[in-house]
Amino acid sequence: MNKQKMTKLSLIVCLPALVATNFFLWNLDPASMVDKFATIEAKEAARSSEEDVLASASLDDWELVLVNRDHLFESEPKSLATVGNIQVDSRIATATKDFLAAAQVIVPDEVLLSGYRSRAEQEQLYNERVAELEARGFNRAEAEARVRSQVQLPGASEHQTGLAIDMSEEAGQLDEVAEKIKALAPQYGFILRYPEGKSHLTGIDFESWHFRYVGVENAQYMEKHDLVLEEYLALLKDRK
Ligand SMILES: [Zn+2]
Repeated sequence: MNKQKMTKLSLIVCLPALVATNFFLWNLDPASMVDKFATIEAKEAARSSEEDVLASASLDDWELVLVNRDHLFESEPKSLATVGNIQVDSRIATATKDFLAAAQVIVPDEVLLSGYRSRAEQEQLYNERVAELEARGFNRAEAEARVRSQVQLPGASEHQTGLAIDMSEEAGQLDEVAEKIKALAPQYGFILRYPEGKSHLTGIDFESWHFRYVGVENAQYMEKHDLVLEEYLALLKDRK
């Protein structure tokens, strides 16, 4: 190949490459590329940490115990601690205290209304509510059916585990305040256990005050994916 031909050939090969490279460089905004990569990295990190949460959660974890009308709680908390004027499982005492303190920043009158309840106390509560309705003229079956969407039967209440709290203002709470407190819950390991629109799964009507401890990572996952405990446990059961 003579020299002239070589030059021509290298021009044919190199010129488009040169133009393409410059075009690419002109269009490359270093700041936006860094942002783009950071977003991709953050998304991947979030995905892998979510997978970690699912991988490390176990159906046997104490904080994931399922208690509802189909899953009765027949045991007792091993150890109780007092927070304010209620008792909770001692393993969640700090989380409860911190969650209450955070809620009191939003509304100073926020209090813990209920925590651990023995089976006998639950039974008494249930019977009292049924009796109230019977006194208003409902027959026994009607009264029980109504009460069951608000008060669990003995054994079916999460309050017997010591892992559930009722937290509100004594006089009741405005929706927008309840929303703010609900949003705080996961960082302390709590979920609003009976949210709106899920009573077909939980068996209990919406309660803005009943929070259940499930651990921070589980709570954050459930919040992000809008899952109640029944759904989250089904997801854990289905994982490969
Ligand atoms: Zn409750």
